[in-house]
Amino acid sequence: MLLEGRRALVTGGSSGIGRATALRLGEEGARVAVNYRSERERADAEAVAARIDPAGARAYAVQADVRVEVEVVRMVEECRERLGGLDLLVNNAGIESQAPTLEMSLEVWEEVLRTNLTGAFLCLREAGRLMAAERRGVIINISSVHEFIPWPGYAHYCASKGGLKLLTETVAQEWAPLGIRVLAIAPGAIATRINSALLDDPEALREVEAEIPLGRLGQPEEIAAAVVWAASEEAAYLTGTTLVVDGGMSTYPRFS
Ligand code: NAD
Repeated sequence: MLLEGRRALVTGGSSGIGRATALRLGEEGARVAVNYRSERERADAEAVAARIDPAGARAYAVQADVRVEVEVVRMVEECRERLGGLDLLVNNAGIESQAPTLEMSLEVWEEVLRTNLTGAFLCLREAGRLMAAERRGVIINISSVHEFIPWPGYAHYCASKGGLKLLTETVAQEWAPLGIRVLAIAPGAIATRINSALLDDPEALREVEAEIPLGRLGQPEEIAAAVVWAASEEAAYLTGTTLVVDGGMSTYPRFS
C-alpha cells in the first residue's frame, strides 16, 4: 500500500473523480475525510466513507460548501480533531456550465470562479496551515486540460482552471521550504456526470473520441491512480507542475 496511515481530505468526494479518488486512497491505506457540498450529496458521501471502512474508524463524510469560508475552516478543523492533522488535500470540487461570453451574466461567471478557484484557494490555505505546522504535506489540485486549452463557451471555466494552474505553481514555490508539495492533475475528458450531456449524445461523443489518440474517454479511476502516485513518496520530487492525464488529447490530433 502506497499511502498507509496518511490523513487525506477529498473535496467533492460524493461523485465522479472525487468518489473514485477517495475509494482508491482508502484502498491504499489512507484515512479519508470525504467532503460533500450539501444535504443532497450526503448519502452518497456517507456511502463512499462506509465502503472505505464500514466501522467508520478510517473514513467519514464531512459537509462543507467550498465557496463558504466558515464551512471550509470548520471542515479542516474537524480533520484536525478526527484525523489528527492532514497529509493530503485533493482539491477536486468543481462545476462547469456553458455560456457564450457575450451573454454570460456576472452571476454565472462568479459561480464558477467562486467554486473552482476561490473554493480551491480556501481549502488549500486551511489545509496548508495544518501541514505547515508539521512541515509536511501534499496538495493536489484537480484542474483540467482547460488550464491551457481554450474552450469557446466556457471562458469562466477556462479562467478558473488557468487560475488554478498559477495558484498551484506559486504556492508550490512558497511552501516548498515548509515541506509541502503542491501540484495539479489535469484530466482530459472523463466519463463522469459533469459530462452527462456528452455521454447521452452518441454523435457528440464520437467527435470527442476522435480528438483523443487513445480513442475513448477516461475513467475516474484512471485519475485516482494518478492522484495516488503523485501523493506518494514515489513522487517526492514532484511539485509546482501539472500532470496531464488525457489519453493524448492535448497533442491535438486534428492538427496532425
Ligand atoms: P462531478 O460533477 O461528478 O464532481 C464534482 C463534485 O464537486 C461533485 O461531487 C459536487 O457535489 C462537488 N461540488 C461542486 N460544487 C461544490 C461546492 N461548492 N462545495 C463542495 N463540493 C462541490 O464531476 P467530476 O468530473 O468528477 O469533476 C471533478 C473535478 O474534475 C472538477 O474540478 C472538474 O472540473 C474536474 N475535471 C473533470 C473532467 C471531466 O471530463 N469529467 C475533466 C477535467 C477536469
